Amino acid sequence: MRAFPNFLKIKDRLVVVTGGGTVAARRCEIALRCGARVSVFAEELGGDFADVGRNPDLVHHARAVTPEDLRDARIVFCAADDAEADKAVHDMAREHSRALVNVADTPSLCDFTMASILDRAPLAIAIGTDGASPILGRMLKAKLETEIPASFGRLADFAGERREALEEVMPRNADRLRFWEQLMDGPIAEMVLAGRNDEADRAFKAELNRIRDGGSKASRGEVYLVGAGPGDPDLITFRALRLMQRCDVVLYDRLVSPEIMTLVRRDAERIYVGKARNDHTMRQEEISQLLVDLAKQGKRVLRIKGGDPFIFGRGGEEIELLAAHHIPFQVVPGVTAAAGCAAYSGIPLTHRDHAQACLFITAHGRDGKVEADWPAMLRPNQTVAIYMGLNLLPVLMEEFVARGADPDMPAAVVDNGTRENQRVVTGTISTLAAKVAEAELKGPTIIIVGSVVTLHEKLDWYSGGAEAITAGETR
Ligand code: SAH
Repeated sequence: MRAFPNFLKIKDRLVVVTGGGTVAARRCEIALRCGARVSVFAEELGGDFADVGRNPDLVHHARAVTPEDLRDARIVFCAADDAEADKAVHDMAREHSRALVNVADTPSLCDFTMASILDRAPLAIAIGTDGASPILGRMLKAKLETEIPASFGRLADFAGERREALEEVMPRNADRLRFWEQLMDGPIAEMVLAGRNDEADRAFKAELNRIRDGGSKASRGEVYLVGAGPGDPDLITFRALRLMQRCDVVLYDRLVSPEIMTLVRRDAERIYVGKARNDHTMRQEEISQLLVDLAKQGKRVLRIKGGDPFIFGRGGEEIELLAAHHIPFQVVPGVTAAAGCAAYSGIPLTHRDHAQACLFITAHGRDGKVEADWPAMLRPNQTVAIYMGLNLLPVLMEEFVARGADPDMPAAVVDNGTRENQRVVTGTISTLAAKVAEAELKGPTIIIVGSVVTLHEKLDWYSGGAEAITAGETR
C-alpha cells in the first residue's frame, strides 16, 4: 500500500478551499457532506456553485486567502486552476497551519489524494489509486454502485441502533457475530432494504424475545415478485439482480428469457410454471398456492415474470394469497414490454407532435374473447399499445377501420422486443395484418397504433442488429 487509507472526521472543523470553478465546487460539496464548515476564497463563484453556494455552512470570501484564514483549517484544498497560485497557497498552508493540503492535479504537493467515493452513509467506500488512475477508481466505483443498493446505509443504521439491545440478550461476541451474519442475509435485512422499517423492527424485537426465551429461530420464508423486463438482461434492475442471486427457488415462465435465467443463483431450484397461451402448465391458483407452500418451508422464493409484474402480469393475483397468509413479500418493477419495444424500435410512445397520451391495453380478455375498450382506443392524439394481440391482429385492425379510424393510421408490430431476434413490421391499420402474416412472426409481440409509428424510420437504432451498433461495441 502506498498511502494510509482512513476516514478523517471533519465535522464542525474548518475546511478552506481556494478557487471558484468546478473542482473547487466539488471539494466544497464533499466537505459539506461530511459536516465541515467551509471557507471558499475566490473572486467569483462559477455556475457549479449554484447549489453548494447556498449551503449555510459555506462562507464565500471574494479576496485572496491570508495566513490567518488558514491557521485553524483541518484541510486546505487548492483548486484555483492556476498552478502558481495553488503552489503559493500550498506553501502558505505548510508554513502557517497544520492542515492537510491537497493541490488539485498535482500529486507531488498533496498530503492525500481524493478517493472515488461510494456514499451509503453511514457506510462509505473510498477507492484510491494513489493518483495513478482516477478513471480506474471511478470505473470500479460504478461497478460497486451496481452491487451495493442505495439503501444499504439504512441497513447499517438499523444494525447500529440495535447493537446494544442484542448485547443484552446475547452476551457472547461469537453468537452475536453469527446472529448479524444471518440477519444481513435474511428477511429482516430485506425489509429494511425495501423501506419497511416498522415491520423490520417488529421482526427484530420478536427475534430478541425468542432468544431471551431460549427458543430457536423460527424459519420464515419470503417471496420476491420480480419483473424481469422484456428480454434484454441489461434491462433488469439492480434490486432484481440482487434478489435473483439470493433466492433458494425460482418460479419462472415462458416470457422470462433464457439469458435472464442465467443470472439466477446457480444452485437455486427451478420450477417452470408455463403460461403459454394454450398451455397453462400450472393454473394461477396452483402457482399462488405453491408460492405459499415454499415460503412456509422457510425458502426464499423468486417469482420472476416478464416485463413488469403489475402490468398484465397477474402479479396482483399471485400475491393476494401471500398477504392472506402473512408471508412477507416484495414487488420489484420491471421494464414493461410496451416501453421496451418502444425504446428498442425507435417509436416514442408519446411525442409532442403526435400523441399526448398512451394507452396500454390488452385484446385478450379473461376468457380469450376480444373485449376491447373501443371508445378509449379510438381517441385522437394518443398511442395505443396492445398486449397479447398477435392472434387477434386481423380482427383488431379490421375493427379499427370499421369503427371509423383512418385506414391510413400508422401501426406497427414489435416482435421479441429488446431481444437479439427483435423484428419490427410497420404499416397502416389496413396493411399491417397482411404484412405480419407474411413475416410469420411468432411472438411475443406488442402492437403499436398511432402516428408515432412514422418516427421508427428515423429513430430506429437497434433493428439492424450488430451492424447498426457502433463498431467495437457489444450488446
Ligand atoms: N407483464 C408483462 C406483460 C405480460 S402479458 C409486461 O409488463 O411486459 C404478455 C404479453 O406481453 C405478450 O403477449 C406480449 O404482448 C407482451 N410481451 C412480453 N414480452 C415481450 C417482448 N419481448 N416483445 C414484445 N412483446 C412482449
